[in-house]
Amino acid sequence: MFRAIRHLSTVSAMRLADVVIIGGGPAGLTLASALKASRSTSQLKVELIEGGKLLEGLREFGNSPPEDITNRVVSLTPATVNYLEKIGVWDFIRYERIEEYDNILAYDGVTNSRIEFEHVGIATMCENLNLQSALLAKIEDLGESGCPLDIHDSTKVVGIDSAGNGWPVVELDNGERIQTRLLVGADGFNSPVRKFAGIESRGWSYNRWGIVATLNFKVDSFRQITGWQRFLPSGPIALLPLPNDMASLVWSTTPELANVLLKLSEEKFAAMINAAMKLDPEEMKYLYKLAEEDDNSLVDSISWRLSLFNNKLQPEQHELYPLEIESLVPGSRAKFPLKMSHADTYVGPRIALVGDAAHTTHPLAGQGLNMGQADVQSLVNCIETATERGLDIGSTLALEPYFSERWPINNAMLGVVDKLHKLFSTDFTPVVMARSFGLDVLNTVPFVKDFLVDRMSSK
Ligand SMILES: Cc1cc2nc3c(=O)[nH]c(=O)nc-3n(C[C@H](O)[C@H](O)[C@H](O)COP(=O)(O)OP(=O)(O)OC[C@H]3O[C@@H](n4cnc5c(N)ncnc54)[C@H](O)[C@@H]3O)c2cc1C
Repeated sequence: MFRAIRHLSTVSAMRLADVVIIGGGPAGLTLASALKASRSTSQLKVELIEGGKLLEGLREFGNSPPEDITNRVVSLTPATVNYLEKIGVWDFIRYERIEEYDNILAYDGVTNSRIEFEHVGIATMCENLNLQSALLAKIEDLGESGCPLDIHDSTKVVGIDSAGNGWPVVELDNGERIQTRLLVGADGFNSPVRKFAGIESRGWSYNRWGIVATLNFKVDSFRQITGWQRFLPSGPIALLPLPNDMASLVWSTTPELANVLLKLSEEKFAAMINAAMKLDPEEMKYLYKLAEEDDNSLVDSISWRLSLFNNKLQPEQHELYPLEIESLVPGSRAKFPLKMSHADTYVGPRIALVGDAAHTTHPLAGQGLNMGQADVQSLVNCIETATERGLDIGSTLALEPYFSERWPINNAMLGVVDKLHKLFSTDFTPVVMARSFGLDVLNTVPFVKDFLVDRMSSK
């Protein structure tokens, strides 16, 4: 008797969906938005489940964003922006908070060899919140035009099981259960969907933290809007342009140095950024020691060293370095562990993985989120094709082309980024000389640079 009642109550709490997306990060929201924007798939019953508190914050950002740029900012490739335009999301972006730029200048912290990439609109800096808020606004707009989508935030997936018919059943922490034709894991690095599907993910930790912050430039003269990246032996430091003379910092460094840097006051941290963009790695070693042991004289020591450095520059050489940082947006520092991982496959019976659930990469090339956007585009194409041909959207036949298209491209990108990280994380003289020679030569061969820009822009 007890069993029968339990069974009945379970059945009554179960609902059906065509697609359940776990994760309301950039990948999950883009997938939801693209499915609802497509004529072929707009009538599918789609539900999105997000464990964090998402909707209120994104709506608030959309209605009255904070004055300062927030600290999670990504560099979007032209391919990503084109896709967001195509599915109608870009119309909802707050343009006054993005920065498109045409120049990237990368230089070796040991030898100062450099390479410059120039291309109109090479990348667009955009806050994660701006992107996610635009995605939500588009989804809500589509909902008002008759293509509704259920988003449940503050709702965690606590279990995934298989029903008798082989369809995945997602169990939520509020006791609800959803049986779905296709379950998509857009649920980040620790992906519960990937674990449920028994898909292996291989990779390693870089033993590096990525410190992010929002910065204010000291503006004393006009500079071209440029993305700067300096490769130090402990990891690259990048200053990427934001509107209103601000910049986004991504400083990849060892856990030990990250601890030292994050204990500094914001004023001293800003001084260390200026030092790291110009001074010799040996001087940096001395400054890290000073920062750790007696940071009272740190700012003066950096000012003195930088004035010596700047005085030695010819007037035209000042353009070879970024403007100095004046201050940090208060409280904008944060750190993230950096790792490389790649799932063995992105699909299984009634399962697909997109974004960080499928792969994670070092941020030095700004590709992680962009790869996830390209995954979504490819998966949506497959679901559209299956729907148009009357195929089961959860079948391997429908999903396999997504895996075949995206896995090799992502694998190549992960490999290139991993090798770049390794190549630049050493001060072993022969390697340093070889890489500097390579950079100098590459910098003089326009067609090779154009090829690299095309690859990095995901063209
Ligand atoms: C320092 C740094 C700088 C970066 N810079 C760039 C850049 O310039 N360009 C670029 O392209 N990429 C960049 N990246 C990478 C980019 O941030 C990520 O690739 C991207 O945010 C991943 O998005 P996602 O939607 O796949 O995953 P996530 O953003 O991780 O979203 C996953 C979501 O799933 C939810 N979730 C997980 N488990 C559950 C559960 N059980 N139940 C319900 N919900 C769940 C989580 O709450 C989360 O919201 C950077 C990364 C770092 C660390």
